Amino acid sequence: PAGVEPSLATVGLTKAFGGVRAVDDATVTFHHGKINALIGPNGSGKTTFFNCVTGMIRPDAGEVTYRGRTITRRSPNRIAAAGIGRSFQLCRIFPRLTVLENVLVGVRPQGLAHRLRGARHGADIDRARELLRRVGIDHLEHAEARDISYGQQKLLELAGVLMVEPETIMLDEPAGGVNPALIGRIGTLVRELNAEGRTFVIVEHNMEMVMSLSDHVVVFDRGRPIAAGTPDEVQGDPRVLEAYLGV
Ligand code: ADP
Repeated sequence: PAGVEPSLATVGLTKAFGGVRAVDDATVTFHHGKINALIGPNGSGKTTFFNCVTGMIRPDAGEVTYRGRTITRRSPNRIAAAGIGRSFQLCRIFPRLTVLENVLVGVRPQGLAHRLRGARHGADIDRARELLRRVGIDHLEHAEARDISYGQQKLLELAGVLMVEPETIMLDEPAGGVNPALIGRIGTLVRELNAEGRTFVIVEHNMEMVMSLSDHVVVFDRGRPIAAGTPDEVQGDPRVLEAYLGV
């Protein structure tokens, strides 16, 4: 549509596992500056798509671009360097490090000791504390990450993603397994960060969250998009109902 600036986009993206085409010739465009959602029934290929575009797994075919530049088959670090940060469906945190230390190591597991040593200086610590305040868990900075709740761990992971100042943030099931109060806080944070200019691409099962939060929704079924549009548009689409209800 006119006026849409592409963010992350794919053309013909394909990834098979044995005989299963988890992602099957998927052509998708997410919108820059918006809150985008990727939804679809279980097994429709959302996680595989996510992993292909963030460099975690190699697609068999197709192209991935970010703001018009190809990032196909780049390493996760280079994709992160292009401005894309991501969270993981199951939190990727270091359970025996403190909350503050987890933010200081950011999302990169490489060179952990080095990064921690290097980060023990003022500016980084100030910024990490500011991010913990922002996500609302600064009172837990000295707790070991394994001792805080699962929802708090999700907020911690988000603070870690923000530490690297990504232009675009990909969240894999931010509301999964999180209590309703924290889901509300995560939604509010996403809105605020979006208002400050960050683009979001969110894979989420919680339909209420997706529909209330997103500007643009892409619906997957059997490895490819079957509908895309505003929440109202996709909710009324018979193909979407069919995919979810299996009728
Ligand atoms: P979703 O995230 O939408 O639930 P997935 O991307 O996890 O979907 O899975 C899509 C399809 O690919 C499913 O049929 C799943 O069983 C299959 N699949 C995903 N990952 C693997 C893998 N590593 N090995 C084999 N099959 C896989």
